[in-house]
Order: sequence, then C-alpha cells, then structure tokens
Amino acid sequence: MNRYGIHLWGDDNFIIENGVVKVNYGDKPSLIELISKIREDGHRGPLLLRFPHITEKQIDKLYTTFNKSIKEYDYKGTFNAVFPLKVNQFPNFLFPLIESGEKYNYGLEAGSKAELILAMAYNNEEAPITVNGFKDKEMIILGFIAKTMGYNITLTIEGLKELETIVEVSNEYDMECPNIGLRVRLHSGGSGVWAKSGGIDSKFGLSSTEILEAFGILKNNDMVDKLTMIHFHIGSAMNTIAPLKKALRESGHIYAELKQMGATNLENINIGGGLAIEYSQFERTRSYSLEEFSNDVVFTLNFIAKQKGVKEPNIFTESGRFIAAPSTVLITPVLELFSSEYEKENLLLKDTNPPLIKELYDLYNEMKEETALEFMHDALDHLESVLTLFDLGYIDLQDRSNAEILAHLITKKAIQLLSLKDYTELKRINEKIQEKYLLNFSIFQSLPDFWGIDQEFPVMPITHLDKKPTRSASLWDITCDSDGEIEFDSKKPLYLHDVDLEKEEYFLGFFLVGAYQDILGMKHNLFSHPTEADVVFKNDSAQIKNLLKSQKIIDVLEDIDYDVIDLKSRLKSKLHKNNKIYKMLDKFINDTTYLKTTKS
Ligand SMILES: *Cc1c(COP(=O)(O)O)cnc(C)c1O
Repeated sequence: MNRYGIHLWGDDNFIIENGVVKVNYGDKPSLIELISKIREDGHRGPLLLRFPHITEKQIDKLYTTFNKSIKEYDYKGTFNAVFPLKVNQFPNFLFPLIESGEKYNYGLEAGSKAELILAMAYNNEEAPITVNGFKDKEMIILGFIAKTMGYNITLTIEGLKELETIVEVSNEYDMECPNIGLRVRLHSGGSGVWAKSGGIDSKFGLSSTEILEAFGILKNNDMVDKLTMIHFHIGSAMNTIAPLKKALRESGHIYAELKQMGATNLENINIGGGLAIEYSQFERTRSYSLEEFSNDVVFTLNFIAKQKGVKEPNIFTESGRFIAAPSTVLITPVLELFSSEYEKENLLLKDTNPPLIKELYDLYNEMKEETALEFMHDALDHLESVLTLFDLGYIDLQDRSNAEILAHLITKKAIQLLSLKDYTELKRINEKIQEKYLLNFSIFQSLPDFWGIDQEFPVMPITHLDKKPTRSASLWDITCDSDGEIEFDSKKPLYLHDVDLEKEEYFLGFFLVGAYQDILGMKHNLFSHPTEADVVFKNDSAQIKNLLKSQKIIDVLEDIDYDVIDLKSRLKSKLHKNNKIYKMLDKFINDTTYLKTTKS
C-alpha cells in the first residue's frame, strides 16, 4: 500500500489506519472527521488545521534534548530558546506556543518593529526577548521601553552604527539600557538555501575588526557590562551539520577572547536557527538527528571553553522551522479531475473515414500482447500526423476527435496487455497520460515556498488509503496562473486514486506547512487565507477551537484599499435597483473567495 513516505516526514504525528489519516494523539481523530465537522457549518474551500500539541511536542523535544546533552557533558551553561516571530506570527499558532513554552521560559525573537511590539505585548514575563535585523533609532528606543517593562531583552547589533545609536539613546533617555549582543559575520560561510544569512559577504553581522571596534566603543562609554551575547545565524534548513560546527568554533573563540579582554557579563552564545526538518516523501535529506545537533553544540562549546579557560556560555537557539512546520496541515478539496480519459462510446466514426483513422481503428482491434508495444508506438505516430493534417485543414474536428480517442484506447489496451510483462514501459506510458486534479486552493496563498523556491511539502490523500492509487497525478490550483501547478515528477511520483466526484469527496492534505507559509502567502488572484482552526485535546477528546473564517470577497477588496461603499453602490446602480438580484449578488460578495465543491 502506498504510505506516501509518512515514515520519513510524519514523526509519528499522523498515522494511517483503516484507510484514513489519523492524528496520533488523544482519541486519534481522523483528519476527515475533523474537517467534516468544520464543513458541517458551511465552511468550504481549503482548510488549515493547526495542532498546538505538536508545537508543544517540538518545544519539549528541543529543551529535553539539549538539557540531556548538557547533563551528559557535565556542561555548566544553561539552555535557552526564543521563537523567531517571522516564522509564524498568527495568533492561532502563537498563543498556544507561548503558553506551551511558559514552563521553560521560552521567549520570542523579533526582527522588525511590528514583531517587537508583538513580543512586548505577549512574551512570557520571565522569558528572554532577542531582537535581530537592522534597527533605526525608534526601534532601539522600543528596546529600551521593553527593558523598562521588565523584560530580559537583548538587542543584537548588526553594525557599528546601531551600537552608536544605543549609546546615544541611553544618554538621551532616562531608561535602563537593554542587553547588547554582537552578531558575528562568519568567515565559514552559511548553509542551506539561505546561505547568505551567514558567511563573509553576508548581509548581516560584524567582521572581526568591527567586533574589536564595538568592544572599544562599549569600553569608552562604560557599557562593557551590557555586552551579554554573541550571535550568529547561518541560514535556514541546514541539511548537514558541518557548517554549524565550523560556525560554533569560530564564534566560540570570539566569545572566549572577548571574555579574556574583560567582557565580564558576556555569558551567552546564540546559535540562531537553521535546524531542519524532513520534508521529503522519498528519501532522507536531513543528515543529522536533533540529538547529534545538540551534542555537537554542547561538545564544541565545552571544548573551546576548556581550551581557553573561560566559563562555558549559556546556549540560546532561535529555531523556527523545527518548532512551527509540523504543527499545521492544509486540507484541499479536489474539485474536478481532468483526465484524458475517453470511452469507446465517445467514438463517432463516419461512413467513410480518412485512411489514418481507419488504420488506427484496425490497430485497436487487432492488437495482441506480442504487438502491443509496436502498435502503441504506431498509434502515437499516427496521432501526430492526424494533428498536422488538422492544422493544414485536410481533416475536420470529428476526425481529430476520433483519432484522439482511438490513440487513447490503444494506449489503454496496451497497458492492460503489458501489465505484468514490461513494467518500465508501462510506467513510461502511465506518466504520459496523467490525471489533472483541480484543487480548491491557491499555491501562491498557501504554499508560497513551493512557488518561490521549489520547497517540497508532503502531500497525500486523507482517505482511500486502503486502496491502491493508480493515477499519476498533476495538481492544479484554482488561480489562473500557469505557475499554480505541481507537475507530475517521475522521480518523485505522486499517485492518487481514481474517484468519481459525483459520488464521493476526495481531499488532499499538505503537511508541514506551519513555518513561513502563512505570512508569505500572497493574495494572488485575490484569494484570501483559508479558513483555519486549532484542534485541541481536552481529556483526550479532540475539539475545534478558534475558528477563523476565510476572508469575504468584499473584505479582501477593502484590504487592498477599495472604497467598498462606492464599489457596492456601483454594482447596485448597474442593476437598476433590481433588489432581488442585488440581494443574490450581495450574498456572493459577502462569501469566501474560494470555489464550492460539487457535492454541496
Ligand atoms: C530566520 C531566522 C531564524 C529562524 O530560522 P529557522 O531556519 O526557521 O530555524 C532564526 N534566527 C534568525 C536571526 C533568523 O533570521
């Protein structure tokens, strides 16, 4: 049975049982049960299900694994973590995360003013806040205000100018100065798709000369005691661990030397994000485990501290993808199947047919197992010729249709005759005649990283899993953009079921979509975010909470600054005040941007 690689990417969060995908938690509800409940209330279109227990599991895993390594190596520093807000700022995701992290003092990382404001409002009180990215004077003042609120906040400076502004603000205002971190520009390149986040020509961080200068500035202004953290971030989705080890050695030595130079309060190394998760349905692409990752961090920092005779630094991470991605599943209804599937009944032969059509007809009738392959190749050649004749005006549309149907029937018959004999040829044919599954969602809105950087997301049907999927599938979204397609890839084939949508519904789940997708999602073609909800467990029983409806058409238009009163009055006047029709129109503009499935 096709299990769609769930053993690779699933991490035991989901299981296949009795032909359906179930949540492996509490009373183990199936995904189809959950979405049926939501759809009962009339919510159509794509649905985003968020599972806070999975976020909690990731947080627990991060802390317990690091604390285990710390114990194993008898390491004297502590483990701390912050969640980088840029990865997912949506309240349905964030509030449960903050609550789950409270027992660990799990904090937040902000990379912009708006994110910092979010952190200031909602961060766990005792937990750290770190601020990265470029900052102007206002943003630095915000940092001082956060400090005044009592937060343990560290401003990581990306350049000397920022440090000078911090000095300026602390002289100008009567507020306590936040802690200061230095982001180091590593000579040992970055990793992953975002390699530019680290490395010597990175957008971010201080060179070794600038670090020495920064230390000088702090000294001259009597602020050395404010320097508490060394920070680096080598890029997202590291597939191997080697670049991290290099970065750790480099920054470890910088930490140790600054301590030796008199940075008495420098106690922390922040190793940024980059911890990968496995997205692949076909082979392992991440070559390390979380245990290896944490052991390497603790071992390397321990080694350097001993070597240089300084205290072991506390470890901070800013893992985002690892924490957020597994928590969210996108469910997309299949609206339609576009097959190149014809039946014999469609054939409308004339009394006299062009010779090529006659020949196709004979090939179809006389085909046997021994001749199947040869006849099929002939048929495909004939079809090409017929299409050329059509373009030249020698045959008509009916002839062309007959040729297409016959070529298809021949291919299908060949597949049957060959089925057990020639598997590779069969696969090749199969890939030629894929089914197009039209899905009720927008790739631009819901899987922007697939569109932008070819990020794969595990995809599978959430029902029918006790039946063999036989169709090689291409997936189409409902935008009218040709990029809104996930093409069949014979190296990573997706096979789906042959379903009759008149009789039953069919849904595909896209997994691991909790990191970056929500906020990067675009309103291309004016499709809004999908309807979403948290699935929480009370006494083991699944409940749907915080349902957030997909935006109405009128609200999407208002979002991009249309005057909706003017818009509505225009529509109304064009109907010459025909109220009955306007009422119907008004219902549509106050409804979702997505399509409605055939069955409802
Ligand atoms: C984006 C970012 C992160 C998060 O990276 P992940 O790969 O999602 O873990 C952490 N720190 C900084 C500074 C970042 O820019």
